[in-house]
Amino acid sequence: MKIYIENHTDYLNDYYFKSLCLLYFHSEKFPVEDSSPNTARFILKKEDKGLTAFCEISSPYGKASAECKEEDIVFTIPTPGEEIAKSITGKALLAAGYKLFGFIPPWGHITGLRPVKRARFYLERGFSEKKVRRLFENDHNVSREKTDLSIDTAYNEIKLLSDLENNNCGVYVSIPFCPTRCDYCSFVSYSNQKLFKLIPDYLARLLKDIKKTGEIIRETGFVPSAIYIGGGTPSFLSEEQLEFLLSGINKHIPMENLREFSFEAGRPDTLTKEKLNIINKYGVNRISVNPQTTNQTVLDAIGRKHTVEDFFQAAKLVKKYDFKTVNADIIAGLPKDTFESFSKTLDDVLSLGFENVTVHTLSIKNAAEMKNEEGIFDPAGSLARECVSYVGKTLKAKNYRPYYLYRQKRTVGNGENTGYSLEGHECLYNVMMMEETSSVFACGAGAITKLVSSDGEHIERIAFPKFPFEYLEKEEGIGEERIKSFFAKG
Ligand code: SF4
Repeated sequence: MKIYIENHTDYLNDYYFKSLCLLYFHSEKFPVEDSSPNTARFILKKEDKGLTAFCEISSPYGKASAECKEEDIVFTIPTPGEEIAKSITGKALLAAGYKLFGFIPPWGHITGLRPVKRARFYLERGFSEKKVRRLFENDHNVSREKTDLSIDTAYNEIKLLSDLENNNCGVYVSIPFCPTRCDYCSFVSYSNQKLFKLIPDYLARLLKDIKKTGEIIRETGFVPSAIYIGGGTPSFLSEEQLEFLLSGINKHIPMENLREFSFEAGRPDTLTKEKLNIINKYGVNRISVNPQTTNQTVLDAIGRKHTVEDFFQAAKLVKKYDFKTVNADIIAGLPKDTFESFSKTLDDVLSLGFENVTVHTLSIKNAAEMKNEEGIFDPAGSLARECVSYVGKTLKAKNYRPYYLYRQKRTVGNGENTGYSLEGHECLYNVMMMEETSSVFACGAGAITKLVSSDGEHIERIAFPKFPFEYLEKEEGIGEERIKSFFAKG
Protein backbone atom coordinates (compact mmCIF):
# COMPACT_ATOMS: atom_id res chain seq x y z
CA MET A 1 0.00 0.00 0.00
CA LYS A 2 1.29 3.44 -0.78
CA ILE A 3 1.06 5.88 2.04
CA TYR A 4 1.85 9.61 1.88
CA ILE A 5 2.37 11.46 5.10
CA GLU A 6 2.72 15.17 5.73
CA ASN A 7 3.28 15.42 9.44
CA HIS A 8 3.83 19.03 10.52
CA THR A 9 4.09 18.11 14.20
CA ASP A 10 6.56 16.31 16.44
CA TYR A 11 3.93 13.96 17.77
CA LEU A 12 3.45 10.91 15.58
CA ASN A 13 5.81 8.60 13.76
CA ASP A 14 5.12 6.80 10.48
CA TYR A 15 4.44 3.56 12.33
CA TYR A 16 1.27 5.02 13.81
CA PHE A 17 -0.10 6.08 10.41
CA LYS A 18 0.62 2.61 9.04
CA SER A 19 -1.05 0.96 12.02
CA LEU A 20 -4.15 3.07 11.39
CA CYS A 21 -4.28 1.96 7.74
CA LEU A 22 -4.37 -1.68 8.88
CA LEU A 23 -7.77 -1.05 10.46
CA TYR A 24 -9.30 -1.03 6.97
CA PHE A 25 -6.52 -2.56 4.88
CA HIS A 26 -5.60 -5.62 6.97
CA SER A 27 -3.03 -7.36 4.90
CA GLU A 28 -1.14 -4.38 3.60
CA LYS A 29 2.56 -3.89 3.87
CA PHE A 30 4.20 -0.59 3.12
CA PRO A 31 7.22 -1.09 0.88
CA VAL A 32 8.38 1.86 -1.18
CA GLU A 33 7.80 -0.03 -4.42
CA ASP A 34 4.29 -1.36 -4.08
CA SER A 35 1.79 -2.77 -6.53
CA SER A 36 -1.22 -2.59 -4.19
CA PRO A 37 -4.10 -0.51 -5.60
CA ASN A 38 -4.76 0.96 -2.14
CA THR A 39 -3.37 4.31 -1.06
CA ALA A 40 -3.67 6.57 1.96
CA ARG A 41 -2.73 10.21 2.40
CA PHE A 42 -2.46 11.90 5.78
CA ILE A 43 -1.83 15.56 6.53
CA LEU A 44 -1.37 16.49 10.18
CA LYS A 45 -0.92 20.22 10.84
CA LYS A 46 -0.46 22.43 13.87
CA GLU A 47 -2.59 25.55 13.50
CA ASP A 48 -3.55 28.46 15.75
CA LYS A 49 -6.66 26.73 17.04
CA GLY A 50 -4.93 23.40 17.48
CA LEU A 51 -4.25 20.35 15.35
CA THR A 52 -6.01 19.44 12.13
CA ALA A 53 -5.85 16.01 10.53
CA PHE A 54 -6.81 15.20 6.99
CA CYS A 55 -7.07 11.68 5.62
CA GLU A 56 -7.80 10.43 2.14
CA ILE A 57 -7.97 6.74 1.30
CA SER A 58 -8.55 5.11 -2.02
CA SER A 59 -9.04 1.54 -3.15
CA PRO A 60 -10.67 -0.16 -6.14
CA TYR A 61 -13.99 0.59 -4.36
CA GLY A 62 -13.46 4.33 -4.70
CA LYS A 63 -11.99 7.25 -2.86
CA ALA A 64 -13.01 9.08 0.31
CA SER A 65 -11.56 11.77 2.51
CA ALA A 66 -12.31 13.46 5.81
CA GLU A 67 -10.88 16.09 8.10
CA CYS A 68 -10.91 16.34 11.88
CA LYS A 69 -10.07 19.44 13.92
CA GLU A 70 -8.96 19.46 17.53
CA GLU A 71 -11.11 22.52 18.21
CA ASP A 72 -14.26 20.50 17.42
CA ILE A 73 -13.59 17.82 20.04
CA VAL A 74 -14.07 17.89 23.78
CA PHE A 75 -11.71 15.29 25.21
CA THR A 76 -13.07 13.40 28.19
CA ILE A 77 -9.82 13.35 30.13
CA PRO A 78 -7.05 15.98 29.87
CA THR A 79 -5.02 14.63 27.00
CA PRO A 80 -1.39 15.27 26.07
CA GLY A 81 -0.48 16.47 22.57
CA GLU A 82 0.54 13.08 21.27
CA GLU A 83 -2.76 11.52 22.30
CA ILE A 84 -4.72 14.39 20.73
CA ALA A 85 -2.76 13.95 17.51
CA LYS A 86 -3.48 10.21 17.53
CA SER A 87 -7.12 10.78 18.25
CA ILE A 88 -7.89 13.33 15.58
CA THR A 89 -5.86 11.45 12.95
CA GLY A 90 -7.71 8.27 13.91
CA LYS A 91 -11.07 10.04 13.71
CA ALA A 92 -10.23 11.41 10.25
CA LEU A 93 -9.30 7.89 9.09
CA LEU A 94 -12.52 6.40 10.53
CA ALA A 95 -14.67 9.08 8.91
CA ALA A 96 -13.03 8.44 5.53
CA GLY A 97 -13.20 4.66 6.06
CA TYR A 98 -16.88 4.83 6.92
CA LYS A 99 -17.62 6.74 3.73
CA LEU A 100 -15.73 4.22 1.64
CA PHE A 101 -16.52 0.91 3.36
CA GLY A 102 -19.62 1.62 5.42
CA PHE A 103 -18.38 0.48 8.82
CA ILE A 104 -16.39 1.66 11.81
CA PRO A 105 -14.04 -0.97 13.28
CA PRO A 106 -15.28 -2.20 16.70
CA TRP A 107 -12.20 -0.91 18.53
CA GLY A 108 -12.49 2.48 16.81
CA HIS A 109 -9.08 3.90 16.12
CA ILE A 110 -7.31 2.18 19.01
CA THR A 111 -4.32 0.49 17.39
CA GLY A 112 -2.69 -0.76 20.61
CA LEU A 113 -2.84 -4.39 21.61
CA ARG A 114 -3.88 -3.84 25.22
CA PRO A 115 -7.04 -1.71 25.31
CA VAL A 116 -8.00 -2.95 28.78
CA LYS A 117 -4.81 -1.55 30.23
CA ARG A 118 -6.20 1.89 29.40
CA ALA A 119 -9.51 1.17 31.15
CA ARG A 120 -7.78 -0.29 34.19
CA PHE A 121 -5.37 2.65 34.36
CA TYR A 122 -8.16 5.17 34.71
CA LEU A 123 -10.44 3.08 36.94
CA GLU A 124 -7.54 2.46 39.34
CA ARG A 125 -6.90 6.19 39.52
CA GLY A 126 -10.42 6.95 40.60
CA PHE A 127 -11.99 7.99 37.28
CA SER A 128 -15.66 7.07 37.23
CA GLU A 129 -16.90 4.24 35.05
CA LYS A 130 -18.98 6.84 33.20
CA LYS A 131 -15.86 8.81 32.32
CA VAL A 132 -13.95 5.73 31.19
CA ARG A 133 -16.92 4.75 29.09
CA ARG A 134 -16.95 8.20 27.47
CA LEU A 135 -13.20 8.00 26.93
CA PHE A 136 -13.65 4.77 24.98
CA GLU A 137 -16.82 5.60 23.08
CA ASN A 138 -16.29 9.31 22.34
CA ASP A 139 -12.54 9.83 22.26
CA HIS A 140 -11.58 6.53 20.68
CA ASN A 141 -14.81 5.60 18.81
CA VAL A 142 -14.92 2.15 20.43
CA SER A 143 -18.27 0.36 20.07
CA ARG A 144 -20.60 0.02 23.06
CA GLU A 145 -20.04 -3.74 23.11
CA LYS A 146 -16.24 -3.48 23.22
CA THR A 147 -16.41 -0.68 25.76
CA ASP A 148 -18.52 -2.88 28.05
CA LEU A 149 -16.13 -5.77 27.49
CA SER A 150 -13.09 -3.61 28.30
CA ILE A 151 -14.62 -2.23 31.50
CA ASP A 152 -15.84 -5.66 32.69
CA THR A 153 -12.42 -7.14 31.99
CA ALA A 154 -10.65 -4.26 33.73
CA TYR A 155 -12.73 -4.72 36.90
CA ASN A 156 -11.97 -8.43 36.96
CA GLU A 157 -8.28 -7.80 36.44
CA ILE A 158 -8.18 -5.24 39.22
CA LYS A 159 -9.70 -7.79 41.58
CA LEU A 160 -7.35 -10.53 40.46
CA LEU A 161 -4.23 -8.39 40.72
CA SER A 162 -5.19 -6.82 44.04
CA ASP A 163 -3.79 -9.76 46.02
CA LEU A 164 -0.37 -9.55 44.42
CA GLU A 165 2.58 -8.01 46.20
CA ASN A 166 5.32 -6.05 44.43
CA ASN A 167 7.69 -8.98 44.69
CA ASN A 168 5.35 -11.53 43.11
CA CYS A 169 6.41 -12.67 39.67
CA GLY A 170 5.53 -15.09 36.91
CA VAL A 171 7.71 -17.74 35.26
CA TYR A 172 7.33 -18.83 31.63
CA VAL A 173 8.85 -21.96 30.11
CA SER A 174 8.77 -22.39 26.33
CA ILE A 175 8.43 -25.73 24.53
CA PRO A 176 8.44 -24.73 20.87
CA PHE A 177 7.68 -28.09 19.29
CA CYS A 178 4.46 -29.39 17.74
CA PRO A 179 3.66 -32.67 16.02
CA THR A 180 2.70 -30.79 12.83
CA ARG A 181 2.17 -27.17 11.99
CA CYS A 182 -1.35 -25.72 11.68
CA ASP A 183 -1.86 -23.54 8.61
CA TYR A 184 -2.85 -20.41 10.55
CA CYS A 185 0.01 -20.62 13.05
CA SER A 186 2.68 -17.94 13.20
CA PHE A 187 4.28 -19.04 16.48
CA VAL A 188 7.83 -20.21 16.58
CA SER A 189 7.10 -23.87 16.67
CA TYR A 190 9.14 -26.70 15.24
CA SER A 191 7.20 -29.48 13.58
CA ASN A 192 9.80 -31.20 11.52
CA GLN A 193 10.93 -34.77 12.17
CA LYS A 194 14.59 -33.88 11.77
CA LEU A 195 14.39 -31.04 14.25
CA PHE A 196 12.68 -33.20 16.86
CA LYS A 197 16.14 -34.65 17.42
CA LEU A 198 16.99 -31.33 19.07
CA ILE A 199 14.52 -31.92 21.88
CA PRO A 200 16.87 -33.74 24.31
CA ASP A 201 19.56 -31.05 23.94
CA TYR A 202 16.93 -28.34 24.11
CA LEU A 203 15.56 -29.70 27.37
CA ALA A 204 19.03 -30.07 28.87
CA ARG A 205 19.81 -26.43 28.07
CA LEU A 206 16.37 -25.31 29.21
CA LEU A 207 16.88 -26.93 32.57
CA LYS A 208 20.14 -25.03 33.08
CA ASP A 209 18.25 -21.79 32.40
CA ILE A 210 15.44 -22.83 34.73
CA LYS A 211 18.02 -23.45 37.45
CA LYS A 212 19.59 -20.01 36.88
CA THR A 213 16.13 -18.44 36.83
CA GLY A 214 15.36 -19.99 40.21
CA GLU A 215 18.63 -18.64 41.60
CA ILE A 216 18.05 -15.12 40.33
CA ILE A 217 14.45 -15.13 41.54
CA ARG A 218 15.72 -15.92 45.07
CA GLU A 219 18.59 -13.46 44.85
CA THR A 220 16.38 -10.58 43.78
CA GLY A 221 13.76 -11.41 46.41
CA PHE A 222 10.97 -12.42 44.05
CA VAL A 223 8.23 -14.91 44.88
CA PRO A 224 6.61 -16.72 41.95
CA SER A 225 2.81 -16.66 41.93
CA ALA A 226 2.31 -18.30 38.56
CA ILE A 227 4.22 -20.63 36.27
CA TYR A 228 3.17 -21.18 32.66
CA ILE A 229 4.53 -23.91 30.42
CA GLY A 230 3.55 -22.88 26.92
CA GLY A 231 4.27 -23.80 23.36
CA GLY A 232 4.12 -25.09 20.81
CA THR A 233 2.64 -28.18 22.32
CA PRO A 234 4.29 -29.05 25.65
CA SER A 235 2.41 -32.35 25.83
CA PHE A 236 4.22 -33.39 22.66
CA LEU A 237 7.15 -34.25 24.95
CA SER A 238 7.53 -37.91 25.85
CA GLU A 239 6.76 -39.15 29.36
CA GLU A 240 10.47 -39.21 30.25
CA GLN A 241 10.95 -35.71 28.89
CA LEU A 242 7.95 -34.42 30.83
CA GLU A 243 9.26 -36.03 33.99
CA PHE A 244 12.65 -34.39 33.39
CA LEU A 245 11.15 -30.94 32.77
CA LEU A 246 8.55 -30.90 35.52
CA SER A 247 10.78 -32.37 38.20
CA GLY A 248 13.43 -29.78 37.23
CA ILE A 249 10.95 -26.93 37.56
CA ASN A 250 9.82 -28.25 40.95
CA LYS A 251 13.41 -28.53 42.09
CA HIS A 252 14.69 -25.13 40.96
CA ILE A 253 11.79 -22.67 41.00
CA PRO A 254 10.47 -21.57 44.41
CA MET A 255 7.01 -23.10 44.57
CA GLU A 256 5.99 -22.30 48.16
CA ASN A 257 3.66 -19.44 47.31
CA LEU A 258 2.58 -20.55 43.88
CA ARG A 259 -1.09 -19.88 43.14
CA GLU A 260 -1.13 -21.26 39.66
CA PHE A 261 0.84 -23.78 37.63
CA SER A 262 -0.38 -23.84 34.03
CA PHE A 263 0.40 -26.40 31.40
CA GLU A 264 -0.67 -25.69 27.85
CA ALA A 265 -1.23 -29.15 26.47
CA GLY A 266 -2.63 -27.64 23.31
CA ARG A 267 -3.08 -30.38 20.73
CA PRO A 268 -5.49 -32.91 22.23
CA ASP A 269 -4.04 -35.84 20.29
CA THR A 270 -0.79 -35.59 22.27
CA LEU A 271 -2.33 -36.28 25.67
CA THR A 272 -2.29 -39.69 27.30
CA LYS A 273 -3.19 -41.01 30.73
CA GLU A 274 0.50 -41.60 31.47
CA LYS A 275 1.46 -38.02 30.58
CA LEU A 276 -1.43 -36.62 32.60
CA ASN A 277 -0.31 -38.67 35.61
CA ILE A 278 3.07 -36.93 35.42
CA ILE A 279 1.61 -33.48 34.80
CA ASN A 280 -0.73 -33.95 37.75
CA LYS A 281 1.95 -35.37 40.02
CA TYR A 282 4.11 -32.25 39.74
CA GLY A 283 1.43 -29.84 40.86
CA VAL A 284 -0.02 -28.45 37.63
CA ASN A 285 -3.43 -27.02 38.54
CA ARG A 286 -4.46 -25.44 35.23
CA ILE A 287 -4.33 -27.22 31.90
CA SER A 288 -5.37 -26.21 28.38
CA VAL A 289 -6.76 -28.62 25.84
CA ASN A 290 -7.44 -26.73 22.65
CA PRO A 291 -9.89 -27.86 20.00
CA GLN A 292 -10.07 -24.45 18.20
CA THR A 293 -13.26 -25.86 16.64
CA THR A 294 -15.33 -29.00 17.01
CA ASN A 295 -16.17 -29.04 13.32
CA GLN A 296 -14.01 -31.56 11.44
CA THR A 297 -14.41 -29.74 8.11
CA VAL A 298 -13.00 -26.60 9.70
CA LEU A 299 -10.16 -28.51 11.38
CA ASP A 300 -9.25 -29.96 8.00
CA ALA A 301 -9.47 -26.53 6.35
CA ILE A 302 -6.98 -25.03 8.80
CA GLY A 303 -4.53 -27.91 8.56
CA ARG A 304 -4.84 -28.85 12.22
CA LYS A 305 -4.10 -32.51 12.11
CA HIS A 306 -6.17 -34.02 14.84
CA THR A 307 -9.78 -35.04 14.93
CA VAL A 308 -12.77 -33.72 16.80
CA GLU A 309 -12.97 -37.09 18.50
CA ASP A 310 -9.38 -36.63 19.76
CA PHE A 311 -10.56 -33.50 21.52
CA PHE A 312 -13.56 -35.11 23.18
CA GLN A 313 -11.48 -38.04 24.36
CA ALA A 314 -8.72 -35.81 25.74
CA ALA A 315 -11.26 -33.53 27.42
CA LYS A 316 -12.97 -36.45 29.15
CA LEU A 317 -9.64 -37.86 30.23
CA VAL A 318 -8.43 -34.54 31.64
CA LYS A 319 -11.67 -34.06 33.56
CA LYS A 320 -10.97 -37.28 35.48
CA TYR A 321 -8.04 -35.54 37.21
CA ASP A 322 -8.31 -32.94 39.93
CA PHE A 323 -6.93 -30.03 37.91
CA LYS A 324 -8.52 -26.94 39.38
CA THR A 325 -9.06 -25.34 35.98
CA VAL A 326 -9.34 -26.74 32.49
CA ASN A 327 -9.19 -24.28 29.61
CA ALA A 328 -10.10 -24.64 25.95
CA ASP A 329 -8.98 -22.24 23.23
CA ILE A 330 -11.40 -21.72 20.38
CA ILE A 331 -11.12 -19.44 17.33
CA ALA A 332 -13.74 -17.27 15.62
CA GLY A 333 -13.38 -16.42 11.94
CA LEU A 334 -11.87 -19.70 10.73
CA PRO A 335 -12.30 -20.63 7.06
CA LYS A 336 -15.34 -22.81 6.42
CA ASP A 337 -16.78 -22.09 9.85
CA THR A 338 -20.38 -20.96 10.15
CA PHE A 339 -22.27 -19.34 12.98
CA GLU A 340 -23.96 -22.68 13.68
CA SER A 341 -20.73 -24.67 13.86
CA PHE A 342 -18.98 -21.98 15.90
CA SER A 343 -21.80 -21.84 18.43
CA LYS A 344 -21.79 -25.64 18.57
CA THR A 345 -18.05 -25.51 19.37
CA LEU A 346 -18.75 -23.23 22.30
CA ASP A 347 -21.66 -25.40 23.47
CA ASP A 348 -19.45 -28.51 23.22
CA VAL A 349 -16.74 -26.96 25.38
CA LEU A 350 -19.27 -25.81 27.97
CA SER A 351 -20.97 -29.19 28.04
CA LEU A 352 -17.62 -30.73 29.01
CA GLY A 353 -17.50 -28.54 32.10
CA PHE A 354 -14.42 -26.47 31.22
CA GLU A 355 -14.05 -23.64 33.71
CA ASN A 356 -12.09 -21.39 31.35
CA VAL A 357 -12.67 -20.63 27.67
CA THR A 358 -10.28 -18.47 25.68
CA VAL A 359 -11.82 -17.10 22.51
CA HIS A 360 -9.45 -15.93 19.81
CA THR A 361 -10.31 -14.19 16.59
CA LEU A 362 -8.36 -15.48 13.62
CA SER A 363 -5.29 -13.45 12.87
CA ILE A 364 -2.92 -14.42 10.12
CA LYS A 365 0.65 -13.26 10.27
CA ASN A 366 3.22 -13.43 7.49
CA ALA A 367 4.82 -16.51 9.03
CA ALA A 368 1.62 -18.55 8.66
CA GLU A 369 1.07 -21.06 5.89
CA MET A 370 -2.42 -19.70 5.36
CA LYS A 371 -2.32 -16.67 3.13
CA ASN A 372 -4.51 -13.70 2.56
CA GLU A 373 -7.10 -15.29 0.37
CA GLU A 374 -10.33 -13.55 -0.43
CA GLY A 375 -12.70 -13.82 2.50
CA ILE A 376 -10.20 -14.74 5.20
CA PHE A 377 -8.92 -11.30 5.99
CA ASP A 378 -12.21 -9.50 5.86
CA PRO A 379 -11.73 -6.36 8.01
CA ALA A 380 -15.51 -6.02 8.36
CA GLY A 381 -15.64 -9.74 9.28
CA SER A 382 -19.33 -9.78 10.12
CA LEU A 383 -19.46 -13.54 10.82
CA ALA A 384 -16.45 -13.43 13.15
CA ARG A 385 -17.96 -10.45 14.95
CA GLU A 386 -21.30 -12.20 15.28
CA CYS A 387 -19.53 -15.25 16.74
CA VAL A 388 -17.55 -13.18 19.23
CA SER A 389 -20.69 -11.31 20.33
CA TYR A 390 -22.46 -14.62 20.80
CA VAL A 391 -19.62 -15.83 23.01
CA GLY A 392 -19.86 -12.74 25.21
CA LYS A 393 -23.61 -13.08 25.72
CA THR A 394 -23.64 -16.86 26.16
CA LEU A 395 -20.79 -16.97 28.62
CA LYS A 396 -22.14 -14.07 30.64
CA ALA A 397 -25.45 -15.90 31.00
CA LYS A 398 -23.53 -18.89 32.38
CA ASN A 399 -21.51 -16.79 34.86
CA TYR A 400 -18.23 -16.80 32.94
CA ARG A 401 -16.50 -13.43 33.17
CA PRO A 402 -13.91 -11.82 30.90
CA TYR A 403 -10.63 -11.43 32.79
CA TYR A 404 -7.99 -11.00 30.09
CA LEU A 405 -8.02 -9.48 26.64
CA TYR A 406 -5.59 -8.56 23.93
CA ARG A 407 -5.69 -7.66 20.29
CA GLN A 408 -3.47 -8.60 17.39
CA LYS A 409 -2.86 -6.95 14.09
CA ARG A 410 -4.42 -8.39 10.95
CA THR A 411 -7.37 -9.96 12.75
CA VAL A 412 -10.56 -10.91 10.95
CA GLY A 413 -13.20 -8.27 11.71
CA ASN A 414 -10.68 -6.29 13.79
CA GLY A 415 -11.59 -8.66 16.61
CA GLU A 416 -9.85 -9.49 19.87
CA ASN A 417 -8.84 -12.46 22.03
CA THR A 418 -10.56 -12.81 25.38
CA GLY A 419 -10.15 -15.19 28.30
CA TYR A 420 -13.42 -15.98 30.12
CA SER A 421 -13.73 -18.03 33.26
CA LEU A 422 -15.90 -18.92 36.17
CA GLU A 423 -14.92 -16.98 39.27
CA GLY A 424 -11.67 -18.26 40.76
CA HIS A 425 -10.59 -19.98 37.54
CA GLU A 426 -8.88 -17.06 35.80
CA CYS A 427 -5.37 -17.49 34.44
CA LEU A 428 -3.30 -15.22 36.65
CA TYR A 429 -0.18 -15.64 34.51
CA ASN A 430 -1.96 -14.32 31.41
CA VAL A 431 -3.12 -11.22 33.25
CA MET A 432 0.32 -10.55 34.79
CA MET A 433 1.97 -10.90 31.43
CA MET A 434 -0.54 -8.97 29.35
CA GLU A 435 -1.12 -6.12 31.77
CA GLU A 436 2.59 -5.79 32.53
CA THR A 437 1.97 -5.36 36.23
CA SER A 438 4.55 -7.92 37.43
CA SER A 439 7.90 -9.17 36.26
CA VAL A 440 7.89 -12.42 34.31
CA PHE A 441 11.04 -14.51 34.07
CA ALA A 442 11.13 -16.58 30.93
CA CYS A 443 13.20 -19.54 29.73
CA GLY A 444 13.49 -21.14 26.31
CA ALA A 445 13.50 -20.30 22.63
CA GLY A 446 11.25 -17.40 21.69
CA ALA A 447 10.59 -16.58 25.35
CA ILE A 448 10.80 -13.00 26.60
CA THR A 449 11.62 -12.00 30.15
CA LYS A 450 9.75 -8.86 31.12
CA LEU A 451 11.10 -6.85 34.03
CA VAL A 452 8.71 -4.37 35.64
CA SER A 453 9.99 -1.78 38.11
CA SER A 454 8.32 -1.64 41.52
CA ASP A 455 6.48 1.59 40.62
CA GLY A 456 5.33 0.02 37.35
CA GLU A 457 6.84 2.91 35.39
CA HIS A 458 9.68 1.05 33.69
CA ILE A 459 9.62 -2.13 31.68
CA GLU A 460 12.60 -3.90 30.17
CA ARG A 461 12.46 -6.96 27.93
CA ILE A 462 15.12 -9.60 27.48
CA ALA A 463 14.42 -11.89 24.54
CA PHE A 464 15.83 -15.36 24.02
CA PRO A 465 16.68 -16.35 20.43
CA LYS A 466 13.57 -17.24 18.49
CA PHE A 467 14.50 -20.65 17.16
CA PRO A 468 15.65 -23.70 19.16
CA PHE A 469 18.91 -24.16 17.23
CA GLU A 470 19.82 -20.48 17.80
CA TYR A 471 18.92 -20.90 21.44
CA LEU A 472 21.20 -23.90 21.69
CA GLU A 473 24.01 -22.00 20.04
CA LYS A 474 23.66 -18.97 22.27
CA GLU A 475 26.00 -18.70 25.18
CA GLU A 476 24.30 -19.94 28.32
CA GLY A 477 22.67 -17.37 30.56
CA ILE A 478 19.37 -15.68 31.16
CA GLY A 479 20.62 -12.08 31.17
CA GLU A 480 21.52 -12.18 34.88
CA GLU A 481 23.55 -8.98 34.75
CA ARG A 482 20.78 -7.01 33.07
CA ILE A 483 18.22 -8.38 35.53
CA LYS A 484 20.35 -7.47 38.53
CA SER A 485 21.17 -4.02 37.22
CA PHE A 486 17.48 -3.32 36.43
CA PHE A 487 16.38 -4.10 39.96
CA ALA A 488 19.41 -2.42 41.52
CA LYS A 489 18.02 0.85 40.08
CA GLY A 490 14.99 0.36 42.31
S1 SF4 B 1 -0.65 -26.61 17.81
FE1 SF4 B 1 -0.61 -24.40 18.25
S2 SF4 B 1 1.56 -23.81 18.31
FE2 SF4 B 1 1.40 -25.82 17.31
S3 SF4 B 1 1.31 -25.40 15.13
FE3 SF4 B 1 -0.80 -25.56 15.83
S4 SF4 B 1 -1.39 -23.45 16.40
FE4 SF4 B 1 0.86 -23.49 16.21
